[in-house]
Amino acid sequence: MFRGILSKGVQPSKESKMNADALDALYKALGKEKVITNIEDRICYSHDATSMGVALPPRQKAIADVVIKASSTEEVSAVIKVADKYTIPVYPCGARSGLSGGSVPLYGGIVLDTTRMNRILEINPQDLMATVEPGVVNKRFQDEVAKYKLYYPPFPGSAEFSTLGGNVAECSGGMAGLKYGVTRDYVLSLEVVLPDGSVINTGRRTLRSVAGYDLTRLFVGSEGTLGVFTKITVKLIPLPEKVETLLAYFKDPEEAADAADAIILGQRVIPKTLEFVDSICINSIRGYGGVEIPQKAKAFLLIDVDGKESEVGKDLAAVERACKENGAFEIIVAKTAKESEALWAVRKSISPALFKVAGRKLNEDICVPRSKIKEILRELYSIGERYSLATACFGHIGDGNVHVNFLYGFEEEDEKKVGEMVRHMLKKVVSVGGTITGEHGVGIAKAEFLPLEVPPQELQFMKSLKNFLDPKGIMNPGKIFI
Ligand SMILES: Cc1cc2nc3c(=O)[nH]c(=O)nc-3n(C[C@H](O)[C@H](O)[C@H](O)COP(=O)(O)OP(=O)(O)OC[C@H]3O[C@@H](n4cnc5c(N)ncnc54)[C@H](O)[C@@H]3O)c2cc1C
Repeated sequence: MFRGILSKGVQPSKESKMNADALDALYKALGKEKVITNIEDRICYSHDATSMGVALPPRQKAIADVVIKASSTEEVSAVIKVADKYTIPVYPCGARSGLSGGSVPLYGGIVLDTTRMNRILEINPQDLMATVEPGVVNKRFQDEVAKYKLYYPPFPGSAEFSTLGGNVAECSGGMAGLKYGVTRDYVLSLEVVLPDGSVINTGRRTLRSVAGYDLTRLFVGSEGTLGVFTKITVKLIPLPEKVETLLAYFKDPEEAADAADAIILGQRVIPKTLEFVDSICINSIRGYGGVEIPQKAKAFLLIDVDGKESEVGKDLAAVERACKENGAFEIIVAKTAKESEALWAVRKSISPALFKVAGRKLNEDICVPRSKIKEILRELYSIGERYSLATACFGHIGDGNVHVNFLYGFEEEDEKKVGEMVRHMLKKVVSVGGTITGEHGVGIAKAEFLPLEVPPQELQFMKSLKNFLDPKGIMNPGKIFI
């Protein structure tokens, strides 16, 4: 099964070797109707959500030779066996909502779409686990497990459309990460088709296992570069009885950061979500969704607390206290689910609304140790001032994950500036012990910056693992490492 040896580096296939023989082999393996070759479909697979108007070097769009929408593990395995034989790049994809170019077929070859593998195979309340195929959409899964009063906490902003396969490949986080952790904290085992087409199962269906190496963790967050997930088994927890939503306005972003600290350390409450929004974001969404934002608001925190019916009220009061003591001048507590939804709709509108400011934006997802949040915010605003471009920040402040948006226009000079701003920011982030990506992954977008964070020896170890599993470099080449 494993033919690779530990060698010096990853040699991705730089171009597709798709030829008539390879195409014929795919037709034979799957049937001609399963192999999509028309250009209209292939163009649709040439990008992911990274291209939503952000700074896109041309290499973040590319067209595959064929697209295959797999329906089973056997089909995935058959495709990869052909790819292995003819050394053709394979690009797994889900809903293509990725924000680092992860599913872009950079060197042509085969796009392997797993969205049709969308069955929920088992929900087992007593064992607190469920098994799904990779194409199941996150929100649909949440809704299904909720019928059993169970909860699967990883809930990215893209939950309405992103797939669990994509979530596992990116180790997606989302709003509830502070209290409940991220995707890797819930994956118990995976069925994976390896780059030679063989199929393995990692992990167990038990809530604990320490038998052997933790292969599951190796694959979670591997961004489609080590194999294709065909089954995913995850842990579930009881659904919290109640959720309350609170929004607190501040005159200064640093007051909001202090309040976030006071909630966790002073009041000893870990909220389900603890979202920070700064003044540039606020200005871009004023008047949206019927929520009147006071003129003097320069930041807000949007907080959900959840838990037992009997305890949520106490936690909510503690959160309110921490906000007031740290400068909140107005606090809204949602009285109904509808009011809560309206507050969340405002938060969710920020990302698209920021396009209004200058026409384009580059969305970064840095994460710093919590103690460095204020320092990094100061540095980000000063970078913005130095380059005369607006810098908008929002995100999961509870765990130090800040979405930094550089807002810029269509001039070439702006693009150059943004490139410099990103490098400057990432250097600072790494210097305070942070990471260049808290949840969107490296993909293409961050590949050149990975060596800023990961020391050469560790990077070499990662490349050796990749080479061991994928000696021909056919699995999602051009991602993570350059
Ligand atoms: C509006 C919006 C909000 C977002 N909010 C968040 C957020 O809060 N938190 C967050 O973490 N991300 C967020 N994202 C980013 C993105 O949605 C996530 O990375 C998501 O997990 C991608 O899932 P997908 O199904 O779209 O995967 P794709 O984009 O199709 O693929 C992503 C990666 O997964 C690999 N992959 C896909 N399926 C498989 C498989 N079956 N086997 C192996 N590899 C596979 C691909 O090769 C690629 O490298 C957001 C994106 C948008 C557009």
